[in-house]
Amino acid sequence: MPVSPSYTENLSAGVAAHYQEAERRLLLLIAGYLKKDMDAPDWAELKLLQVQLLQAQARGLLDRTGRQVAAELALTLSKAANRGTAVAMADLAELIRQGLVVPPALPAVEALVGETIRATVGTHPHILRQTLDTYRAVVASTSPQVLLGTQTRLQAAQSALDAFANRGISGFIDQAGRNWALESYAEMATRTATSKAVTSAYRDQMVAAGEDLVIVSDAPQECELCEPWEGKILSLTGAPRIDDIEVEATLDEAEDEGLFHPNCRHSIALYQPGVTEVPTDTADPEGDRARQELRRLERGVRQWKRRSAAALDDNAKAAADAKVRDWQARIRKHVDETPAKRQPQRERLGAL
Ligand SMILES: [Zn+2]
Repeated sequence: MPVSPSYTENLSAGVAAHYQEAERRLLLLIAGYLKKDMDAPDWAELKLLQVQLLQAQARGLLDRTGRQVAAELALTLSKAANRGTAVAMADLAELIRQGLVVPPALPAVEALVGETIRATVGTHPHILRQTLDTYRAVVASTSPQVLLGTQTRLQAAQSALDAFANRGISGFIDQAGRNWALESYAEMATRTATSKAVTSAYRDQMVAAGEDLVIVSDAPQECELCEPWEGKILSLTGAPRIDDIEVEATLDEAEDEGLFHPNCRHSIALYQPGVTEVPTDTADPEGDRARQELRRLERGVRQWKRRSAAALDDNAKAAADAKVRDWQARIRKHVDETPAKRQPQRERLGAL
């Protein structure tokens, strides 16, 4: 019984939601400072004097987010490890009756929690810098309009802030050198750690029970990187085999070649010769396309929710909110017409 991909997906949504909310609040904070005293003749100077205040508030907000995320991660990763152990126990039901099961390796989970907290909270200085840079850039690009009146100034500030809200906070580089937006980065880091917690707890149980062979699951709507591994048999320990079972690689080798990459939806399950059915015809390109299109539509919803938070007046807010409803309607239509499954928590911004 492999661990369902939707299981790790649901677990990782909590941390991502904290960051989506932090991003929304930072935009509200920036917009709040910008629109205050919009018709004062010395608006630009006033705004620059307020950078320190904005910085203190933004830092406080990020500190709170950091504490929430740390608590959420400790809980999420322990749940994931428990899940890996439970699934292993179910797979080893016969052996459990013989008393061969070890308790989950808690220190490994603790190390993973620490590592993941550092990876996510480590983004905070970068978030703070982008927040302040954006604020200063909006003020700077708006000041030359000072002689043209309040309305022009409002429009100039709005369009500068919109450009930022459209892309969100960005610029996180992972170990493989890929660039991520904040919301995707937080989700990727958590999902990767969650899946690692499940897999390593599962693996510990299997090795302790003297089992060596696992099979890679056939995930619906698979990722390209893992397609070649689907249904393949892997060795946990690399021990030489005396039977004629075709072992593709060790689990470590498969991971080095890309299996369980960030955001992977695959898992492993005990392979029992003669009992486990090896899946054939595992490709599902149509499902993969439908899922990617859904992700694109979800990004659209979140983008317009950021635009709504960045709105400097009621008209801009109403226009952004209408766009949110548009994109949500497109999601409903897409989910009706394809195998993609809607995940409302992924469209949420500021729903905590
Ligand atoms: Zn994968």
